[in-house]
Amino acid sequence: MPTSDITEPFVAVTDVKHYIFCPRIVYFERVLHAKPVFGSQQEEGGEKHEEYVRKELRRKDAVYYSPDFIGAQKLLFVNLISPKLGLTGQLDCIIKTVKGEFIPVDYKNMGSNHGKVWMDHKYQLVAYALLVEERYNTIVKRMFVNYIPEKLILEVEITPTMKTHVKRVIGHIKRIISDEKLPPIRVAKHKCTGGCGYRTLCKRSI
Ligand code: SF4
Repeated sequence: MPTSDITEPFVAVTDVKHYIFCPRIVYFERVLHAKPVFGSQQEEGGEKHEEYVRKELRRKDAVYYSPDFIGAQKLLFVNLISPKLGLTGQLDCIIKTVKGEFIPVDYKNMGSNHGKVWMDHKYQLVAYALLVEERYNTIVKRMFVNYIPEKLILEVEITPTMKTHVKRVIGHIKRIISDEKLPPIRVAKHKCTGGCGYRTLCKRSI
């Protein structure tokens, strides 16, 4: 039986990613329901992402990230929901090894942070890990981020501290949605380059 209050809104995994990048994005999307304004390049990027992940689905051989994955199953575009956490999302790929390990994989149609995983991507994957744990009654210890343009696949260890942090973030997101209050600007100015899609609206709100 779900233990959450059913009147509480569900948080999407992408909300977690947005909150880590900038909590104001959550406000614009979930409270104002404003559409982000992106350039045509970014929209095209979205289509390529889908194509790339679908190609992965067509690959006959096992996942190539590690020899541990020989014989592993790939579950693609998995819809996940946790009534307990009030969290939902669709994960690009879950690797299920022959030993029964579940490993989330996310594909990004953009560059890495100088060879490392961006902070918002990291916590997005941790949120997926929480969903995978609940769905498959397992403990997720690692994940992969695949930066498509760089052909770079990065493995990240998932610690209990990271999971606790994401649970706290889910609480903050629920509060933004229920209180309907614009969060203060917390991000460094260099991040406000328009990539969030809300630059114009945000300026109006400052
Ligand atoms: S412009 Fe900057 S402060 Fe405003 S929503 Fe975007 S990232 Fe956040």
